[in-house]
Amino acid sequence: MANYDYIVIGGGSGGVATARRAAEYGAKVVLIEAHRLGGTCVNVGCVPKKLMWYAAQIAHSLDDARHYGFSIHGHDFDWQRLKHDRDAYIQRLNGIYLNLLEQSGVTLVRGSARFVDSKTVAADGQHYSAPHIVIATGGQPVLPAIPGAELGISSDGFFELEQQPQRVVVVGAGYIGVELAGVLRSLGSEVTLVLRHDQAMRNLDALLRDELMTHLRDSGIHILPHTEVTSVSRNPSGGLHLTTTGDGLELNTDTLLWAIGRRANTESLNLAATGVKSTPRGVIPVDEWQNTNIPGIYAIGDIIGHHELTPVAIAAGRKLAARLFNQQPQSRLDYHTVPTVIFGHPPMGTVGLTEAQAREQYADITTYTTRFTALYHALSEHKPKTAMKLVCAGSKEQVVGCHIIGEGADEMLQGFAVAIKMSACKSDFDNTVAIHPTSAEELVTLR
Ligand code: FAD
Ligand code: NDP
Repeated sequence: MANYDYIVIGGGSGGVATARRAAEYGAKVVLIEAHRLGGTCVNVGCVPKKLMWYAAQIAHSLDDARHYGFSIHGHDFDWQRLKHDRDAYIQRLNGIYLNLLEQSGVTLVRGSARFVDSKTVAADGQHYSAPHIVIATGGQPVLPAIPGAELGISSDGFFELEQQPQRVVVVGAGYIGVELAGVLRSLGSEVTLVLRHDQAMRNLDALLRDELMTHLRDSGIHILPHTEVTSVSRNPSGGLHLTTTGDGLELNTDTLLWAIGRRANTESLNLAATGVKSTPRGVIPVDEWQNTNIPGIYAIGDIIGHHELTPVAIAAGRKLAARLFNQQPQSRLDYHTVPTVIFGHPPMGTVGLTEAQAREQYADITTYTTRFTALYHALSEHKPKTAMKLVCAGSKEQVVGCHIIGEGADEMLQGFAVAIKMSACKSDFDNTVAIHPTSAEELVTLR
């Protein structure tokens, strides 16, 4: 039995961050990882997704170039080369993560961790014991329980595609459905997006939802609202045949991409040996200090079932390390006003309350909205709109929500999130001199 101060299960965003920070504070730390270091974000999430998004943005820029005097007649796009270079970059990142752990003095164990009791974990034929154990095992995509579902791929499979599919059906209305449908369409695939309801990203403010649907349609994505896929089979030509709930509607496609959500990775952990509670979807509930129901066992990141974002997992892990190993008993992550961006074309960003949420929480709400054509599109025939909304509460008009869709929204939001976290009011926005000509300036000149 090897004894440690801190056992970290999972070497993804949250696990690596908490392990390194705890080691920095002097704790003896072991991190157990079953697959590739860096977890979802590095291997099959944020990083490869953002590289694909950049490729898609370049495709748009090439289309726009003619409006700026360039003669570009078509262009070749080499999916295989992009995938090869993307994979090589990710392998380098895996190595960087390994070096970082070594430099921090964290012991790395390769293997699947399984609880023996609430203080002991088994992995790779060894037992490890510690007074503090954190579960940071993330999640994985789910497939629906319908005949032939396994003929489709998930986001993990998307990153393995060696060829660009010509025709793709994407099922799902969340982040991944919107982002991957956008990448594929921008790079030239024929894309059908199947939604159970009438809109995608139903948790967003109504302004963003409506604009998003317009952008998706204008980009040439074929949208099937109020539709569910009921079966999948392979047809003799090798393609896929889909039946749906849509009035006799059947679809033929090369690739089917499921983007209908994820479930937490708890199955392999043998939680029964500890008494740690989990939901049927594998989520481990925690209190505001990341404590599970069993003392000495904590959970961070996607496994807790909300705010499934890399910076959230990292921040929660670092705060927990400070609380446990750096005499900071009040250290915990504040989950309010977490900014987030959906990397569509254009991207959209949101922080704080939607207008509907604000109206439920406050009696006195004022909103400021704008919709305009960004200067970048001044010379083009097609004029996609940028839209923005500030949601303000009370007589002082504290800004409690900020919602942006349009070019640059992804880079714009971070600074506004700082202001909102500091309880800025509309007058603070008004008193800030604009930067011209930008889209961001609209947010400080709203009337
Ligand atoms: P993970 O990063 O999933 O790490 C968990 C690790 O635990 C994995 O390496 C796994 O192998 C390991 N593990 C599991 N079980 C065991 C076991 N029993 N023993 C040992 N190891 C185990 N977030 C953003 O903020 N921005 C984005 O742009 C973004 N894009 C995304 C795109 C996609 C396609 C996806 C799927 C996700 C995206 N996310 C994004 C979400 C982000 O990836 C996750 O929120 C983040 O990775 C969660 O970190 P984590 O540490 O909780 O889990
Ligand atoms: P999401 O929860 O965002 O979306 C999944 C959507 O699929 C649901 O909202 C639901 O929409 C729909 N759905 C659920 N079940 C079914 C079904 N049986 N049939 C059809 N549709 C269904 O999950 P994702 O997997 O897209 O992403 C997981 C998380 O990862 C995100 O919540 C986000 O936190 C994170 N992420 C972050 C990114 C970023 O920061 N840019 C990018 C990608 C992921 P409805 O109810 O409307 O039908």
